[in-house]
Amino acid sequence: MTDKRFYLEALGIPLWLPRPNHPSLTREGHTDDHSPRPLMEEASEVRASDSPPPPAAKRPEMRADTDSPPDDWIPPMDDDWEPVFESDDNDLAPAPPMSRETRIARMDWEGLKAEARQCAACELCATRTQVVFGVGDHQAEWLVIGEAPGADEDRQGEPFVGRAGKLLNPMLLAIGLQREQVYIANILKCRPPQNREPTPAEAAQCRPFLQRQIELIQPRIILAVGRIAAQNLLETDTQIGKLRGRVHRFGASRIPLVVTYHPAYLLRSPREKRKAWDDLRLARRTLATEPLGPARRSIDP
Ligand code: SF4
Repeated sequence: MTDKRFYLEALGIPLWLPRPNHPSLTREGHTDDHSPRPLMEEASEVRASDSPPPPAAKRPEMRADTDSPPDDWIPPMDDDWEPVFESDDNDLAPAPPMSRETRIARMDWEGLKAEARQCAACELCATRTQVVFGVGDHQAEWLVIGEAPGADEDRQGEPFVGRAGKLLNPMLLAIGLQREQVYIANILKCRPPQNREPTPAEAAQCRPFLQRQIELIQPRIILAVGRIAAQNLLETDTQIGKLRGRVHRFGASRIPLVVTYHPAYLLRSPREKRKAWDDLRLARRTLATEPLGPARRSIDP
């Protein structure tokens, strides 16, 4: 019995033992009340009866030419039997826990949305009405990224639906895009109280969601709307006036990124709308000259 176990362990094959209620456990002399004993107790007793058990360091050597596993080691394919996995403690060392970032980075749309909905990674979970995940075409060429939900977005669960959103829609139309043709998201998925700016810690906690959205969408261009979005995406504290007017590159895929003013700012400073129009035209020109990436080539005919 003992040698058999060593053979099986050496081969990485689990030992199969009958389940507690298996008829083979109620053999003569086993128990008076016919109730089976636990498997491990049974196994250790059988081992104790072998004399003497070889020390762990002196397991029988297996010679490929002469030694072979016992003929009866093949597990019976029977529901009444179950495998007993035995191994050195080192082999059973638990895998290190997966980080939150790694977990999120492997999610599909459904998993990502579900994870965001129950997210409590920053304190904004306590004050939000609901998570504002993002909206639009999952295969959009254009990805519009703003700052964070406001009161209207928090109430309706969709980004850019307040007054600023009502200006964003005609801005997109001006370059030939329906709102449904783009994907719209924010740096933060939950509303900061009193519409204050996101803190760096909040933005960092929320970043894996947006990062995964970008990976899933694989947009051909990103329009960063407003200073907060631009500074977070480009990881800079440069003022927006110096960031707009040129094409940046985002991430390892080097997605072209154009910065423009937030519609909320344009509502307060309508004279700046001309600059925003210039930004949109720059983005459109960039997209027209940008070669399709490998992933896009497999999507588009
Ligand atoms: S803002 Fe982002 S990180 Fe913070 S609770 Fe909401 S989803 Fe989670």
